[in-house]
Amino acid sequence: MSTTPSAAFSFLSPSPAQERFAHLGPAFYTALQPTPLPAPYPPYWVGTSLALARELGLGDAWLSSNEALQALSGNALLSGSVPYASVYSGHQFGVWAGQLGDGRAICLGEQATAQGRLEWQLKGAGRTPYSRGGDGRAVLRSSIREFLCSEAMHALGIATTRALCVTGSDAPIQRETLETAAVVTRVAPSFVRFGHFEHFAYTGQHGELKALADYTIARFYPMCAQPTAFGGNPYAALLQAVSERTACMVAQWQAVGFCHGVMNTDNMSILGLTIDYGPFQFLDAFVPSHICNHSDTQGRYAYNRQPNIAYWNLFCLGQALMPLLGEANAAQELALSALESYKSAYPQALQAAYRAKLGLVDVQETDMALIEGILKLLATERVDYSIFWRRLSEQMALPDTPQPSRPISAENPAENTSQSANNPRDLFLDRRAFDAWSLQYSERSTHIQRASVADLMLKTNPKYLLRNHLGEKAIQAAKLKDFSEVNTLLTLLQNPFEEHPAHASYADFPPSWAASIEISCSS
Ligand code: AMP
Ligand code: MG
Repeated sequence: MSTTPSAAFSFLSPSPAQERFAHLGPAFYTALQPTPLPAPYPPYWVGTSLALARELGLGDAWLSSNEALQALSGNALLSGSVPYASVYSGHQFGVWAGQLGDGRAICLGEQATAQGRLEWQLKGAGRTPYSRGGDGRAVLRSSIREFLCSEAMHALGIATTRALCVTGSDAPIQRETLETAAVVTRVAPSFVRFGHFEHFAYTGQHGELKALADYTIARFYPMCAQPTAFGGNPYAALLQAVSERTACMVAQWQAVGFCHGVMNTDNMSILGLTIDYGPFQFLDAFVPSHICNHSDTQGRYAYNRQPNIAYWNLFCLGQALMPLLGEANAAQELALSALESYKSAYPQALQAAYRAKLGLVDVQETDMALIEGILKLLATERVDYSIFWRRLSEQMALPDTPQPSRPISAENPAENTSQSANNPRDLFLDRRAFDAWSLQYSERSTHIQRASVADLMLKTNPKYLLRNHLGEKAIQAAKLKDFSEVNTLLTLLQNPFEEHPAHASYADFPPSWAASIEISCSS
């Protein structure tokens, strides 16, 4: 493969002074090149994130250049690229699955940016030694979903890998039906997963395990290098820090109503980033036991199980780190005490997230009861989760209409609510139950300036989310080479808290056919 010279772009050349995954050596990856698309199927652009391109200092023109198109579809190499696929293992659906990947992700190199060094990775650019019989490719529909959701999550303020673009081609790909190939370019400080650590622990490569942990600490968790707690053991401090970041990420998932769908340990980032978007879903109706992954027959990854599953996954990470924590009993104690942090960090982060959703800037003891109260009501009536929160926010922003902080009288509810078309109260059949909750909320928020409550709520409760049916419509159009829906959605999702009057219908209730959309692991 030829290297495309680029005045505009170059990956960092190897520098021994820097901690780089690529410096860890051949036990960690296989150097290889992306596989060009088969002839006669040239690549084309499906979607590009100019917002990310700008953050990366690339300039808009580069991301529409032929150089970028060829490189980001796997047909050519960018200057300075020394590509590789890394090896990891993992627990899938609670069962040890042994060696897994990267079966179709190829790291291109590291870019120096204003935000620090970032790795670029192609997903779907051909087979690797870890493909296990897979074709190393990804299909258009799942690539569009990953692209849009990565950028959406970032705009929602949730830690995630980013997506620079999707390129497509007409190269045929066999899944349940014949589909076409696509490649997503992902960008993140690191793509290291819990499964990387598990790989070296389970294969008894403890020297490599230590090297990986040392690299992770030096590069991403320097504060863990000389901890005051855990008898000075840096690896226990790492486990604690990862537990805290994971707790924050999952709390934000729960608050926004995001179901990941495949929380296998190989899909858990060591940086607490949302990674590997597959059969994910943003909740429509608030059904806590909702299962978004059609392949998840047991509901292991149901929405309300995500916080416990994250802990289970952290426990696996703790087990993998045991060889670095000392002798058997002492190591176990250290791991368990590091993991304890999850049990306090998660509820704290969850409460903070829900306080923000309610526009509350201070902390009161009764907050959890208030939060649980509304969640219970939403679940009982299967109210649309995002529409409820947005309507509540909009209601708080109205100066002179009845509002939750001035509860409606039970005697004459209809009269009192008529001034607002989008009253959250109308979402409930049991108006008295909602009014009772509103009264509590009103008493709780009465001392905070109404405008600041509304302001925080409107910045916290998104109007636009990547609901399944919206993604589906964009995918169906893209299959016919109309990428305008991908672009429209990207614009809305990158600004999810703003009003987009021309596209208000994208914030509507899902159509009835949305419930029949089945998204599986097939991608
Ligand atoms: P996932 O379920 O997408 O997280 O994938 C689990 C593992 O299978 C990862 O290591 C992937 O890289 C690999 N994999 C998934 N699909 C393919 C494919 N079409 N070809 C090769 N490897 C794949
Ligand atoms: Mg994966």
